[in-house]
Formats: sequence, C-alpha cells, structure tokens
Amino acid sequence: MAESTQEKKIDYDFAAHERPLFEAWKDAGYFQRGEGFGKQKGKPYTIVIPPPNITGVLHMGHALNDTIQDTCIRRARMQGRPTRWVLGTDHAGIATQTKVDKKLADEGISRMEIGREAFIDACYDWYREYGATIVDQIKGMGCSCDYDDEHFTLEPGYVRAVRKLFVDWYHHDLIYRGKRIVNWCPHCTTAIADDEAEYVDESGHLWYLRYPLTEPVDELEYLVVATTRPETMLGDTGVAVNPKDERFAHLVGKTVKLPLVDREIPIFADWHVDTEFGTGCVKVTPSHDPNDWAMGEHAGLERINIFDETAHVVEGYGRFSGMDRDQAREAVVAAFDELGLLEKVEDHDHSVMTCYRCHTKLEPWESEQWFVAVDALKQDAARVVEDGTIQFHPERWKQVYLDWLANLKDWCISRQLWWGHRIPMFYCDACGWEDASVDDVEVCPVCGAPTRQDDDVLDTWFSSQLWPFATMGWNESGMDAPEIRTAYPTQVLSTARDIMGLWVARMVMSSMYCTGTIPFEHVIIHPTVMAADGKPMSKSRGNGVDPLRLMQDYGADGMRFGLLMQVTGAQDLKFNEAKLESSRNFANKIRNAARFVLMNLDDYEPGAPAPETPADRWIFSRLAGLVARVDEAFENFEFGEITRELYAFFWNEFCDWYIEFSKARLAGTAADRAVCQRNLAFVLDQALRLLHPIMPFVTEEIYQQLPINRTDAPYLIGAAWPDAEALSSYVDTDAERAIQMVCECVNAIRSTRARYGISPKTELAVVVKAEGADTALLEAQRDLICGMGNTASLVIGADVSKPAESSVSLAPGLEVYIVLSGLVDFAAERARLGKERDKLAKDVAKFQKKLGNPGFLAKAAPEIIEKDKAKLADLTDKLARLDAQLAEIS
Ligand SMILES: [Zn+2]
Ligand SMILES: [Zn+2]
Repeated sequence: MAESTQEKKIDYDFAAHERPLFEAWKDAGYFQRGEGFGKQKGKPYTIVIPPPNITGVLHMGHALNDTIQDTCIRRARMQGRPTRWVLGTDHAGIATQTKVDKKLADEGISRMEIGREAFIDACYDWYREYGATIVDQIKGMGCSCDYDDEHFTLEPGYVRAVRKLFVDWYHHDLIYRGKRIVNWCPHCTTAIADDEAEYVDESGHLWYLRYPLTEPVDELEYLVVATTRPETMLGDTGVAVNPKDERFAHLVGKTVKLPLVDREIPIFADWHVDTEFGTGCVKVTPSHDPNDWAMGEHAGLERINIFDETAHVVEGYGRFSGMDRDQAREAVVAAFDELGLLEKVEDHDHSVMTCYRCHTKLEPWESEQWFVAVDALKQDAARVVEDGTIQFHPERWKQVYLDWLANLKDWCISRQLWWGHRIPMFYCDACGWEDASVDDVEVCPVCGAPTRQDDDVLDTWFSSQLWPFATMGWNESGMDAPEIRTAYPTQVLSTARDIMGLWVARMVMSSMYCTGTIPFEHVIIHPTVMAADGKPMSKSRGNGVDPLRLMQDYGADGMRFGLLMQVTGAQDLKFNEAKLESSRNFANKIRNAARFVLMNLDDYEPGAPAPETPADRWIFSRLAGLVARVDEAFENFEFGEITRELYAFFWNEFCDWYIEFSKARLAGTAADRAVCQRNLAFVLDQALRLLHPIMPFVTEEIYQQLPINRTDAPYLIGAAWPDAEALSSYVDTDAERAIQMVCECVNAIRSTRARYGISPKTELAVVVKAEGADTALLEAQRDLICGMGNTASLVIGADVSKPAESSVSLAPGLEVYIVLSGLVDFAAERARLGKERDKLAKDVAKFQKKLGNPGFLAKAAPEIIEKDKAKLADLTDKLARLDAQLAEIS
C-alpha cells in the first residue's frame, strides 16, 4: 500500500465537518433503540460498551476498541437489524478513590477529616466532570451509541441489581465471610485481588537464621531456616521439613524455641517443603504467607498476626512494636546477629507483589473478608465456551479463558474503601441478627434495635460483571424485562486481553447464574496498542499517543481506518502513525473521486445500472467479489483484512482504472453518457456503503450529494448494506481476466515510456504474448489497449516471438514486448534486465532458505507456509523467463 509523501499536518478542521453530521444522525434517532426495538425484522444486534473508568480520558485502547464496536454496530444497522450499543461508564472503585484522594490532598483536605458522605459526594462530582468528558470523546469518534440511555455502574437501578445478586448468592451459600490471607495494601488499607497485583523484581537477600532446639537432639543444638522476610519470624508458629528428607526425619515431632519471642513451636513434615530451597527447613508464618497458611491449616498451627493494617508491628512485641516492616526487618536481623544466631546472608533476587494503584509492596495479611465460592459457578462458565456457544476471536483466546477459569480460586470481593457498592449486609449488635438485603434494613427484625450496615464496599468487578444485563432492566423485571426478552444475549463483546479473567469470565459466570444464558455470543480480543517501539504506552515513558490529537490531525475517519488497518491476529499492535496518514489520504482520495463523479452528473437521469462494456462488467464483478469478501471478513472479525480489501478496490480499481475507462464514454453519445453516469453513481454508492462503518463521516458527506434516490434512506447510516447475493449475478470471470490483462498491458506500456523517457504522444509498436483463451479475451479489448496505450500497432498471439530490439515486461500469463528501435540504448536494457534478475535470484534464495528451515515449518501457520510456497513458485517462474529474455538480447 502506498505511503504518502505529503506533509503530515494539514490545515483542515475535521471536527467542524464531522460534528454536524454526528448531530444529524443523533437527532434523526439512528442511535436509539427506538419504539420498535425487537419488533422490527431481523434479530436485534446489541453491544454493551466496556464501560470506561471515570478516572481519566480515552486512551488508544479505547480508540481501537470503540472503532471496532462502532464498525460492527453500523454494519448491523445497515443490514436492517434493530441495533443498540449500550453506553456507560464505570465507577472504578479504588482507581477513582485514589484520584479523588489525591485531588483533595492537593487542596489540603483529607478523606478522614470530611468523612464518608462528603467524600462520596466529592467522588460523584468527579464522575459528573470526567464521565461527561469521556462521553464527549466517544461522540467525537463518531460512535453510534445510544446516548439517550446512558448507564453508570453506581446509578440507582444498577445498585439494586448488584445488591440483588449479592443477596441471592449469600442466601444460596455462594457468598461467605471468612478469615483468609489476602493481598493487603498497607497504604490504601484495602485488600487487593490477585489479578490486580503487579509483580516487581527485587534484588533482596536470603537470611539464614538459627532456631535453637528446645532440647538438643544427638548434640544438634539448632536448626537453620532460610527466609527472605526475617521480620515475620515474630509470627512463626512452626518449622517444616519435607517428609522424604532423611536429614531431618528424626527431628519431626520435636520443638524449637523461637528466639526473641521465646515461643515453643513444633517441627513438622509437609510435602510442600522444597528440599532444595535454603537448608530444607522452612519457618512457617501462617498469618503472613499464603503457602504457610495452607501448611498451618493442615498441621493445625496457631495463627499469629503481627502487623496492623498499615503493616506496623502490633503491641506485645517489645521494642519491635510500632516499627514498620522495613525497620522491623533490620531490627530482627540485628538482634539475631547479636545473639550469634545469624548464620549467613546471601544475595537473592525474587519478585514481590505491589499494589497496582500506589505501588506499595503488598503484605499477605490475614483479615476477615467476603468471598464468592466459585466452584459451582465456574462449571457453567467453562461449558458454554467449551461447546462453542460463546466464540472467541482470535480463537486461541478460548484456551486462555478456560485456563483462567480452571485456576480460579474463591474470589475476595470486599474492599476497605468508601467509593463503591457498599456491601448490603446488615447487623444487629444487640441480638446478633444479621442478613443480606436489597433494601436497607434500619431496625432489627428480631429485637427492634437499630442496625448497622457493613462498612466495606464490593470489588469493582463484582458490579461490572452484571453490566450486560443490569443495563437492560434486569434489576426490575428479571428475564421479563422487555429488552432482556428481545435483545439478550448481546452479540459482540470487544475487549482487551488483560481483563479476560477479571471481567469477561465473571460476566459469563454471573450471566449464567442470573439469566440462565450467556451474556454475548462473540468475544473479540483486540490487540493491545503498543508504542512504535513495541513497549506499552505510558505517561512516564512519554511514548503515548493521544486519540484526540490523532483525530485533529487525521480526522475521526483517518484515525478509525488507520487503526483497523493495523489489526491482525497478533497479540500486540505496534502503533504506526503513518497508517493514519495514509488513511487520511485515502479519505481525501475518496473525496476527490466523488468530486469527479459528481461533476459529471449534472445531467444525471436516474435509472438502473447496466453493465454494458467489458469495463462495466469488470468493475461490477469486482464489486460483487469485494462485497462477498468483506462480508466474510466481517463474520470472522478480520478488521485489517476489511480495510485492505476496501482500500485496494476503491483506490486501485475504481479510481485508477474505472474512472479512467469512463472518461471517453462520458464524452461520447448521450446514450453512452447516461449509462456511464448511472454505473459510476452505482459503484460509488455501493463503495460508500461498504466504507461507511469504518469511515462514517466522509462517506455520509458524499452520500448527501449523490443525486440518487434516497427516499427510503435519507442518511447513509440507515441505508441498506450491499447485498452480496443480489450482486453475485454480476460475477463475470472473463471480464475480470480481460480487464486485468488490459491493465497489465497499459501498465507495461506506461512504465516502459517512463523508464526510457518516451513521450506519451509517441506511438509505439507493441507485441503481446498470451496463453490460450487469453488471446481471444485480449483481442476483444484491442481498442481499449490501443487507446490508453497510444500504440501504432498491436499484435496479440500465443506464438508471437520477441521482436528485435524490444523491451520485455512480464505479468502473470503475459509477456509484453515494446519495440524500441531508434528509441533506446540496448546496452542499458541488458543492464536493467541483469539487475532485475539479480534481485529475483536473491528473493528466490530467501524464500528457499525460509521454506527449508524446519523451525519455521514447525511454527508458522499452514496458510502462511502455503502462501510462501506459492510465492516461491511464482518467483522461480519469473526468474526462468527473465533468463530466457536476457539470453535473447545478449
Ligand atoms: Zn495501594
Ligand atoms: Zn436485634
């Protein structure tokens, strides 16, 4: 595809042209689900937008994802299906609370000072400001969401839906409260989900500590344990060895006297102990390590929590009490050293979990939390993906999803935050009554004392898992809600891969439970937009790109087309701004081509298109094939493929050739001109329809100027999608082959003229060697070739031989000779062919090497290998023919 050489910036106010069209669509009601939603013909087509967090502005991931969804929904709308793209934003619990905390802190206000209610008010203020900005940006992209029914994960109806699910799960024993080790952020003072934690590599140490045996065994006085976290020894309640480890078998059942705290703790055997790690003896701190917790449960060990919620040592540990984790570590190591109990210290690199919001090291911490028991829920969620009821695109993500579910453990859903869905548990301190309830319970139903509600809020993902059905009225009428009845499940969910487990799998689990059916039929996992250097875009690296700037420079159309152009089946997309530039130029090309057509339609008389000439039959046939291929690519969600097909058709076939072919006819008889006008208008109109879902603005702008009958569709957004079946009657392989050869011949003549500086006015003698039936096809187009190539003579045949002193151009199935006697230096022609031969030989060698590499053959997709094999065959063929030609002129 040709990259442009134009300047990057152009002075064009895209928004000023785009926004009025957007408002016109909106005012005409195309975005709403409308009165007849579900009653119109065709299956409703619904998408729920992954609700953007209200923490900031749109980033490149949104830009790509929203383009994908709008493209799908616009095509479905043009196919006549009732459509609705559900819009909304996410309250984003901890992320928003952190932002608002920071904003208040900048104003000198602390959350604790103003209290819960005032803080939540501040969060709602934030939502009103940022939520509105985000929605405005989505509008700027041209997204055809239902703006009249916008949702928010903390709106009253949504809150009821969340409570309803909590109460239901609680009453069915799928939600329980328990003491567990959670990942605790001592800075945010809340639990953090496993998949919200970030791993950071740290160069640390391994400390070898001596633990004296309570009574020496065979003169052995102490055991040595190795640990990366010596400070937690204050909470040790055991020492474990592997049951198979003969070195320690005789010590199992004995005890050690824990230094500093003087606690007698057992030595026990557990299969989890890695005999290779450290000394093979490990200290066990059930309250501060998840593995130790499990071992402790098994061995019945005591659990001792030595840290408070900010990770300071609690009372009762003498001089260590009140120290933070790092101070305690230093002090404990120093104390062991003083007592002669520090055996040695080694360097040791390991990875630690940090909070994804504030990057504080997380503390495995025992606390009382609410959990969802996932075992029963995950069965259905796995089944509907295994049996293909839900399909992933690309398909490989299916396994990622299933693996995630298989490894899923009970889900800690309580968060010690203020901003979010407050857990609907109510307690009576007077009599001990407690229950979950959708409606607030102010008075204890047993004893009449006032109740209190749980202080914690729910994990954000607990509420976003209800998104597909909570936005459709499920909280009020369940499965009887009209929209659920008609438009559920939704068709497509498009999202990023990093929330596959956090969000996608949980939506499936909760939908299967609440609605008895899947939430969506297709899951598109779009590539992650990386910076040009292949690294994640980030503020701190300064390699990010702002969609708003891109829309200013390339228009929403240019950004949309340019982004989709870069979508392949790959995991990541290295952002290439040049693609947006060439897309903007493409939009310009569309505008210019339309201008030419419109200029020639002043005396246009409406009528049916009629493929009269071979050129007509060719472009109609190409159009029919294009629609079929685009439809197929849409079915497979191959967005890059769609853009390439559309670009090639519009630019290389319609603009470069069909418009050229048409010029003579437009200047011909009145009858020829009338037919030509209708055909031009028809092909342009069909192309605009195909382009519209991706480039909505430029296509609508032109559609509005086309003098075609628009009574049933005043706007392109509501016009019918091209009908592949109806168009298939235009398929004409002979016309396609004939015009393809015409183009090859004319190209050969033009490029030969360019190469030797021969004026277009100089008539040339041309000989074309073609095979079999091609000669007759080509003979029929003699006038077209002569006219466009300006030839004095044209000889076409299967047995023609190369004239003396002529150039050679090769095309599939064709050899074009152009007589150059008196026009050209032959030594130079030999040199040119020689160079071309060298290049071909190099390419052949490259493909031979690639296809001879067992590693490539083992790893590459079969279709890629096939493609490369075909390429090699083609190159080899060309090389052989070039060699023959070279032999002839030397
Ligand atoms: Zn934190
Ligand atoms: Zn009570």
